[in-house]
Amino acid sequence: MKIKAVNGFKDILPDDALRRQHIEQTARDIFARFGMQEIRTPILEKTELFARSIGEATDIVEKEMYTFVDKGITMRPEATASILRAFIEHGLHVRQPVHRLYTIGPMFRHERPQKGRLRQFHQMDVEVIGANEPQVDAELMAMGQMLLDTLGVTVSLEINSLGCPACRPGFRDKLMAYLNQHKESLCPDCRRRMNVNPLRTLDCKNRNCKDLVQDAPSILDSLCNDCRDHFVSVKQTLDLLGVAYRVNRFMVRGLDYYTRTTFEFITDALGAQAAVGAGGRYDGLLRQLNGPDLPGIGFALGMERLVLLMEQQEDATPPKPTTDLFVAVLGEKAAEHASILVHRLRKLGLTAAMDYSGRSLKAQMKQAGRLNSRFTLIIGEDELACNEGVLRDMNTQEQSKFSLSLPMDEQAQHMTALLSA
Ligand code: ATP
Ligand code: MG
Repeated sequence: MKIKAVNGFKDILPDDALRRQHIEQTARDIFARFGMQEIRTPILEKTELFARSIGEATDIVEKEMYTFVDKGITMRPEATASILRAFIEHGLHVRQPVHRLYTIGPMFRHERPQKGRLRQFHQMDVEVIGANEPQVDAELMAMGQMLLDTLGVTVSLEINSLGCPACRPGFRDKLMAYLNQHKESLCPDCRRRMNVNPLRTLDCKNRNCKDLVQDAPSILDSLCNDCRDHFVSVKQTLDLLGVAYRVNRFMVRGLDYYTRTTFEFITDALGAQAAVGAGGRYDGLLRQLNGPDLPGIGFALGMERLVLLMEQQEDATPPKPTTDLFVAVLGEKAAEHASILVHRLRKLGLTAAMDYSGRSLKAQMKQAGRLNSRFTLIIGEDELACNEGVLRDMNTQEQSKFSLSLPMDEQAQHMTALLSA
């Protein structure tokens, strides 16, 4: 029996990897413009880190984590907790007041695999630690939007405020009172979790629950003055920056640590997997992890969903890589000459390839086409005899002679000059 990959864990084949490289490169470029620095943390963390940050009563911690129970470690389901752990562990706040960090890598959640939902998936995650200004919230959303625009994917931005420890309990009570009145109409899930985390009922997918919460009290009416001012400034700054958004008072996010601003980049092109990216503010989280009392905000974009969206939009396809020169050879002597030339060209920075298997010239020209070669150098027995290869421009089919009698170094330099002309 053939051994296959584990369900929900996917190989990233070359074409897919190419698209991801393009996405990552674009992201790194744009993140750098916003002063973001890369951080890389381990895949494994102490289980307690996620229980204490994401929250015990969340889907992630309750049922989605890959945990080695005997070792007390877990494969990270998201990046925020790990980045904050590293931030605190290395006392980064001592060096400078605000840190802008990002990381790109795999995350692991035991969910039901489907389109846009895997067990190993990849996120581009951004965190700004040490800034509580609403302008920063707007700037981060603007950055996310800039990246998505640059990649050519269409999404809409939804925002909400979840208040803070001063005003959320009041809202919670109001919501509880409302839910208790309508308990019988709630789905079993919501009935169970309404006592632990009643806010979660607000984004339940169940039809009845959805209808019911339409008339529930709005968190936006319960915000304290500080949270209200903050939210107003976030919206104003988004307007100033020309970033379109929609306020969605039902957005709650599945993680316990969020405060104030939360946001999602959503699409209707991926069925139930509507969120391409999501994030929010977590002002109490660092202290909750025994770190300095610093505010923070971040978001993560899902790579797989981005790839799916880009595949639906052909103009977003990254260009196929090219080979500068393919050397087609006939006979051992020609092959030896070519192998030296190819190696020197590679040393000089060109992408060069040749055939080692002694195939026909026709087969080798086909291979040159597959490699998207700009030029092909043909060295057969005749060419070797008169010390002149035939250089063919694969676009125009024009041919010229290329001297094989110069010292190898000079041949390589000559070729480099010809190809970059
Ligand atoms: P969802 O509601 O789709 O489960 P989420 O709220 O659990 O998403 P976050 O924890 O906010 O997602 O993660 C941020 C982004 O990471 C999501 O918007 C999505 O693009 C991506 N993501 C999350 N879980 C998965 C997964 N299992 N497979 C692929 N991408 C995922
Ligand atoms: Mg989820």
